[in-house]
Amino acid sequence: MKSEGRYLESAKEINVYGKYDVIVIGGGCAGFSSAIAAARNGAKTLIVERFPFFGGTATASLMANIVGFRNQVEPDYLQTTKGIGEELMLNLFKEGGAVNSRNAYPSAIRSNTKGDLSYNYAFDTEVFKFVVLKMVKDAGVDILFHTYFSDVIMEDNTVTGIICETKSGRQAIYGGIIIDASGDGDVAFKAGVPFWQTRGDEAPRLNDCLMYKITGFPAETKASGCLYKNTMVVWGPSPGATNAADADELSAEEVKVRLAVYQDLEAKKKAHPGELDGAWVLDTGSLIGVRQTRFFEGEYKITNEDVLEGREFDDSIAMAANPIIHYYGYRRFLEHEGYQIPYRCIVPRKVENLYVIGRCMSTDQQAYESWRAMAHVLAIGEAAGVAAALCIKTKCRVRNLDIKALQARLIEQNCEIGQGKHKK
Ligand SMILES: Cc1cc2nc3c(=O)[nH]c(=O)nc-3n(C[C@H](O)[C@H](O)[C@H](O)COP(=O)(O)OP(=O)(O)OC[C@H]3O[C@@H](n4cnc5c(N)ncnc54)[C@H](O)[C@@H]3O)c2cc1C
Repeated sequence: MKSEGRYLESAKEINVYGKYDVIVIGGGCAGFSSAIAAARNGAKTLIVERFPFFGGTATASLMANIVGFRNQVEPDYLQTTKGIGEELMLNLFKEGGAVNSRNAYPSAIRSNTKGDLSYNYAFDTEVFKFVVLKMVKDAGVDILFHTYFSDVIMEDNTVTGIICETKSGRQAIYGGIIIDASGDGDVAFKAGVPFWQTRGDEAPRLNDCLMYKITGFPAETKASGCLYKNTMVVWGPSPGATNAADADELSAEEVKVRLAVYQDLEAKKKAHPGELDGAWVLDTGSLIGVRQTRFFEGEYKITNEDVLEGREFDDSIAMAANPIIHYYGYRRFLEHEGYQIPYRCIVPRKVENLYVIGRCMSTDQQAYESWRAMAHVLAIGEAAGVAAALCIKTKCRVRNLDIKALQARLIEQNCEIGQGKHKK
């Protein structure tokens, strides 16, 4: 970030927008599932989102391929994400908004009914927005769109609220538990939770990419992309390894990839003769697809070994089974039904009253490349929402929560936390 000196902002009184049991910042897959879960479990819940719709990467960045409902290859008997993730898929089917992905391995295609979801699906991003908005509204969550989180309110090391920029100006909002689902961990960053970040090309990492939607191609096209009716979302230009949590770099990324879109489509047409004849760009993501920025340190950091060995944890709150997609230079599939995600991964070090969920959760690089799949992110989000509501109900600190009570509630809500795993 550029700097040409410092400016001392003067103190001023601002409006208190409200007081909530639970405030969720960010309405991506992690955020909306946590908000729905918190509200359904009796917490007065607010969700704050900078766009006027939910989905984050799934919708704003047109990432129209939801993966991870079970291992992509055998052993794939266990549906590792149920709960709100499954409900979302069933609602999408009901609205005609999801289809089996063309790139699915034939063995991974199931009946697409409750308890029998396939590994992955392509979906229509507009139907996704509609279905999720309805689920959030029906759960009784208060929604504040067009609102940008800008700072935390802290008492010592405890977050007690947030400061937001809204259309009506700067607002203070108090919350019993704050859930950071902003993807980049904006809340945790301001609160001072330690984090790590791969900058540039210094280590293996997943780069950002502008997804764009095309139409006009031949009906029988074999070109790769998320095909839904006569549209297809394709993986577009990448800016290379940059830091999307830096204002200048993020802006420069957007400029670079947006100037490269039409060239990218022409290159795809040349690379796949006949497959994309007549195709034209219908839409680009409102936001470049940001794969990874900061990762915040939690009470536990999930590791490569946990993922590869299918480890189990006493404080499991979710299951994951997606391959490690890039680190090894090939798609490294898992040789088991799935591993567990411990509660301690969403409990940040050093700061109280806060959960950190979604793509900035406590992890190493390899593990991240597996659990980042949207199905898993939805499951972890749901667990955080239930946990937050339980903390409020039992007047308990995040760090002291009764894990058995949380797990019992998750199982009651049809979440898979490992109870369905077949014994080795
Ligand atoms: C290019 C690309 C390809 C991918 N491919 C796949 C795939 O094929 N299948 C799959 O399942 N997954 C895929 N993923 C991964 C997956 O999409 C993400 O891991 C997941 O969607 C992350 O969800 P999230 O809720 O943690 O974060 P995000 O989706 O980033 O959501 C964060 C939300 O917070 C909001 N926000 C951020 N900062 C603020 C702020 N300061 N104030 C208010 N709101 C804020 C954002 O607007 C956004 O809505 C891909 C990701 C990318 C980028």
